[in-house]
Amino acid sequence: MGNLTEPPLLDKSRHALFLDFDGTLVGFADDPDGIELEPGTVERLKALEERQAGAVALISGRALSSIDRFLAPLAFPAAGVHGQEIRFHAGEAVEAAPPPQAMQVARERLAAEIGPEDPLRVEDKGAALVIHYRTAPEAEGRAGELGEAAISGLEGLRLVKGHAIVEIRPDNVDKGKAIERLMARPPFQGRAPVFLGDDTTDEDGFRFVAAKGGFGVKVGNGETAAQYRLADVPSVHRWLEEVAK
Ligand SMILES: [Mg+2]
Repeated sequence: MGNLTEPPLLDKSRHALFLDFDGTLVGFADDPDGIELEPGTVERLKALEERQAGAVALISGRALSSIDRFLAPLAFPAAGVHGQEIRFHAGEAVEAAPPPQAMQVARERLAAEIGPEDPLRVEDKGAALVIHYRTAPEAEGRAGELGEAAISGLEGLRLVKGHAIVEIRPDNVDKGKAIERLMARPPFQGRAPVFLGDDTTDEDGFRFVAAKGGFGVKVGNGETAAQYRLADVPSVHRWLEEVAK
């Protein structure tokens, strides 16, 4: 676990807050559509947004359409699919970069190997392909092998491992770059970025915010580049509640 302490509270005029979604704001479920929000999540986020003068954003591997569905009526500035999708201001349309053409080849390779009866499940996010093995932990090794085979010899794609998933995604996006793009514009510009995340894919974000005078908060166990730690999703909500006061 390491001896990282809980993070300090935020300065309302100095900090910008970036939040991962799954494993940080909400617990995991076997089906990504089956997650349940902690009571008061939407109200808490709204209070934080007001306190930080709008400088609150979500940075997720999910498609933004999925996040928006859970957090309606909120539609915060956000990056989805690790930055492949971005929305700079609340309520604006989502800008989505087209995925590399090689993604279609990887999609066809996976479809040829993972049929409907397979214990592995493929989630097609358009700009990314996710192989889920949460309900079939014994298939972790095979998930990795199929992911490797799917991108073999292709350019512009990389394989990233996360919580019970193996994900194929464009190699030119990561959460650090996504935060950087939001930080270049108001209301984030000029603030010190703070990022909360739980997964290996959040480490790019932790490194970026530390380099910009802010800090990262790792949720849960594990080695990390973040400066602080919160134990779990309920701890995140307790901390956000304190910040929002
Ligand atoms: Mg996460």
